[in-house]
Amino acid sequence: MTISALVVRKDENTISQAIETIDESQLPEGDVTVDIDYSTINYKDGLCLTGQGGLVRSYPHVPGIDFAGTVASSQHPRFKPGDKVILTGWRVGESRWGGYATRTRISGDWLVPLPDKLTTRQAMAIGTAGLTAMLAIDALERHGLAPSKGEVLVTGASGGVGSVAVALLHALGYKVAAVTGRPENADYLRDLGATSIVDRADLAEVSKRPLETESWAGCIDAVGGAMLARILGQMKYGASVAAVGLAGGAALPATVIPFLLRGVNLLGIDSVMQPIPSREAAWARLADLLPRDLLEKSARDVTLAEVTALGPQILRGELTGRTVVAIR
Ligand code: NDP
Repeated sequence: MTISALVVRKDENTISQAIETIDESQLPEGDVTVDIDYSTINYKDGLCLTGQGGLVRSYPHVPGIDFAGTVASSQHPRFKPGDKVILTGWRVGESRWGGYATRTRISGDWLVPLPDKLTTRQAMAIGTAGLTAMLAIDALERHGLAPSKGEVLVTGASGGVGSVAVALLHALGYKVAAVTGRPENADYLRDLGATSIVDRADLAEVSKRPLETESWAGCIDAVGGAMLARILGQMKYGASVAAVGLAGGAALPATVIPFLLRGVNLLGIDSVMQPIPSREAAWARLADLLPRDLLEKSARDVTLAEVTALGPQILRGELTGRTVVAIR
């Protein structure tokens, strides 16, 4: 059987991408074969498509860090042909071939059954970004966040993680302050449920004072860098920040004062190696919670042929919401 895949090649120092026909025998090892319906474009896909960040170690490579589809064959006890499944993380699409292909082989230990309430397209409109937003909210709630505590800040709000986070927090009854560097996206963010819009420039620089006015009951931060450092000093007493991403930088030029004087918590969120039980719980909660009209507002469909051009765009912070890649 032949498979259509977006293949990234590296010759000398030149990276190229093309849709190629590959043979099934070239697929990676795995006990489940999946016919892929949809994949998506995440920040990491931008890195893998353009050969940046040192994530891809060997070429030729098929990127795509998440996918949803139908089991074609299985030697794994949890899955049988016809089952609908979701894959996110486990370094798929980075250290091994990923979802930009009509078929792949994978370990069944990494798959999550598609919740009954979701289609494979909806699962990918959520994708790695949405799963991460849900895990961040789960973590904040475990540390005491509740709608009565006050406004929750979401940074990188018009990106993939940010958009789903805004919609989820709104569905849970939170007031949401959305940080964006793109004022033209204010109406989009209000449509998703943001109650106020914060200009990225207001948080772009580290404050001279380690503590500022206590403003936020919680924060989901996709940006990192100076913005995260600034936000730590603006959290309410005992509040938590879920650190999710580094769209603005990996450094953390902060002081420990907010931790010591306000009992602020910094919670790390990792979706990649997250154990299966908490993934399944998060997907079930996403399926129950996420309003489908808001999911549609944040999702845009593209073809596999369009993916190459979108890689550099997501790295420049130019994509809005989630980008779903139709594979077949
Ligand atoms: P997107 O590019 O879709 O979103 C990032 C958003 O951040 C942009 O849309 C933009 O929002 C904002 N932004 C971009 N550049 C800057 C900048 N220099 N300074 C401040 N804000 C900026 O990416 P994703 O949502 O897919 O991912 C967001 C981050 O989360 C990435 O760093 C990614 O690696 C990480 N991530 C981590 C996961 C985990 O398991 N921990 C899983 C998934 C993602 P706006 O224009 O509204 O300001």
